[in-house]
Amino acid sequence: MSIGEWLTRCVWLPAHERLRGRATLAEMRSLATLLSAPADCVQAAARERLRALLRFAAQHLPYYTELFAQRGVDAGATDPIAALQRLPVMHKRHVRAAGDAIVWPAVPGGLQPCVSGGTSGDTLHFHVDRLRQAQSMGARLAMQRHLGVDVGARRIWLWGSPLEMKRSRVRRVRDRLLNEIPLDAFDMGPPEMDAYLRTMQRFRPRLIMAYASAATMLAQYARDQRRAIALPGLRAIVLTGDEVSDEDRRLIRTVFGAPVYTEYGSREVGLIAYECPHARLHVLTPHVHVEITQGDDAVPGGEIGNITCTNLNTRAQPFIRYHLGDVGRLVPERCGCGLPLPVLEIRGARITGFVALPSGRLCHGHLVAYLARAESCVQAFRVIQPTLHELQVLIVVDETYTPAARTRMQQAFARYFGPDMHVDIRVVDALPPDPSGKRRHVISHVAPTLTRYDVVESPAEILAD
Ligand SMILES: [Zn+2]
Repeated sequence: MSIGEWLTRCVWLPAHERLRGRATLAEMRSLATLLSAPADCVQAAARERLRALLRFAAQHLPYYTELFAQRGVDAGATDPIAALQRLPVMHKRHVRAAGDAIVWPAVPGGLQPCVSGGTSGDTLHFHVDRLRQAQSMGARLAMQRHLGVDVGARRIWLWGSPLEMKRSRVRRVRDRLLNEIPLDAFDMGPPEMDAYLRTMQRFRPRLIMAYASAATMLAQYARDQRRAIALPGLRAIVLTGDEVSDEDRRLIRTVFGAPVYTEYGSREVGLIAYECPHARLHVLTPHVHVEITQGDDAVPGGEIGNITCTNLNTRAQPFIRYHLGDVGRLVPERCGCGLPLPVLEIRGARITGFVALPSGRLCHGHLVAYLARAESCVQAFRVIQPTLHELQVLIVVDETYTPAARTRMQQAFARYFGPDMHVDIRVVDALPPDPSGKRRHVISHVAPTLTRYDVVESPAEILAD
């Protein structure tokens, strides 16, 4: 470990997290201690946390007080899992309808506003607390240590968020102290990708974290350009955000020369599961209780159904039996890696595409989510790009919608996509089903070709083919 990495681990990162009011490193250590215990102890601890959550919800959140009474749920029951299963599965519409009756404003550290909808196209405004933030970050650090990447080690993020990516001076200093370099997945043309590859070579990261689709595109670009990428210190590439095929995983591993893992989570629930060195996705049971459901019923172990999550420790706005929208199963067998955590298999998850810009660059579809969900009246959206210069944005809105919201969205899209892109925003009653049968909120009839042939200078060359 270099002096820089040591300083990040022992000085800058703890100071940064303290300033933000998050006990991230304490949470990381606490999870690591729990993970060295036998599986029975970990599950017993998780059950106690579930019981505490149910008691809290019954006492402090009127929505749950009423729901528990209706369903005859005893929050102090000896078997909290049986009590939990008497409750209905919660969908986004239930969270919206519950309003403030599901929010605890007195939460330590205050309510932290959050918006989801990055991958499903169905937006939700809600609150998290500092504990939830610290636990998700702490769990990520703990699981990355398990993959051989220590706290403070050099990290590259291939990520994107218009707000988070603002290259302010403060932000640059912060990134430097934390040993991190963010690369913008919202801006991926050939010159940008060349620059990203050069940055990686120079910085020699120990970890690359990326949207799966962005990492795939960068790997395809490096391969097609016949660029030899030597990253001797790289220990792991962690993919998130979208589903990744085995073929893409192999390509990323070959190009960057390190094992590829995935993490699984959502804005509403936080970090849910992390892949281990045996390529199994382990549920972080001390933080989240995962059930597989059909309708309101939990299905027997091993069967496929809807992935349904309960935040065990967050108090700001706890989601109890929350329907994520992904499908999968809990594997009955234990994993050989020794982690005392159950294994989750995901079948059919979220897929995010790219939008092709008239300038010849590609922009990760998450940008569209950021733009669409900035308006709180938007409940769901889909963006279709039929031609290079055209975006159709379909939005489903609630009763707070006004034409001014549409104008603001129009302006936001114009700001990012420029005058050469015609953006047509339409309010619809419901989104039509995706013709591919997948759940995509960005459907570009132009960009998919580009992701395979992104060495060309201009998409016009492909379109002319
Ligand atoms: Zn494992």
